Amino acid sequence: IEQTAYQNDNLAMLGKLSASIAHEIRNPLTAIRGFIQLLRPHLHQLGKDEYARIILAEIDRANDIIHEFLMSSKPSVPQVGMISVSALLKEAVLLTESEALMKGCQIHLHPLQGDMAISVDVKQMKQVILNMIRNAMEAITERSDDYTGTIEIGARREGAEVRIFISDNGKGMDICTLDRLFSPFFTTKENGTGLGLSVSDRIVKNHGGCISVSSRVNEGTRFVISLPLIQ
Ligand code: ADP
Ligand code: MG
Repeated sequence: IEQTAYQNDNLAMLGKLSASIAHEIRNPLTAIRGFIQLLRPHLHQLGKDEYARIILAEIDRANDIIHEFLMSSKPSVPQVGMISVSALLKEAVLLTESEALMKGCQIHLHPLQGDMAISVDVKQMKQVILNMIRNAMEAITERSDDYTGTIEIGARREGAEVRIFISDNGKGMDICTLDRLFSPFFTTKENGTGLGLSVSDRIVKNHGGCISVSSRVNEGTRFVISLPLIQ
């Protein structure tokens, strides 16, 4: 028990530290981004459009990582509003469809049987679904054999709850990965932050729900988010 308390303390400290570092890094990045934009025409004249593109893409990547850090360290006071589950899922799919297409995976949104309403922080919950869709796309691109990557998304009512599922036929996970999935900073990716699922787990728990996962190596993974429904 003592060790757990100690770890939590450390995590809270790490959270505060990373939040302030993230703020400090964001400002210079914004300045760099602005000046690169100004230099763009000059780079174009030199035939170096590619340089500008790479610099901007890398700055955006750094910003994304910082955004995730901020998300994971901010004490979250949810801005709760009512939204239909189908609207939430539709929007998440809309935001990821082009990315999926580029990566050669299909997203299939199952039509919901009767709509359901939930009371959530829409921004946070959208973040959770997006995290999972992105993980699914990454699991599909990391699978080496030649096949059609598919992501299935849907939801159904289960008593007073809704179960939202996001499943993929990507590379799947072994037991070791499944065990550590929700730990902050745990990642198996070269460029991963390992924060997506730990943040998602906390958001869902803050809403009185839970996340469960089942997976098989080389077959795929299924995440289920359970949330209380508005009665
Ligand atoms: P990141 O995506 O930055 O690695 P996450 O917290 O989102 O961090 O995920 C942690 C780890 O869980 C991933 O590195 C990956 O190993 C595993 N994982 C998550 N989702 C999936 C999935 N759909 N299929 C296979 N592995 C997954
Ligand atoms: Mg992720």
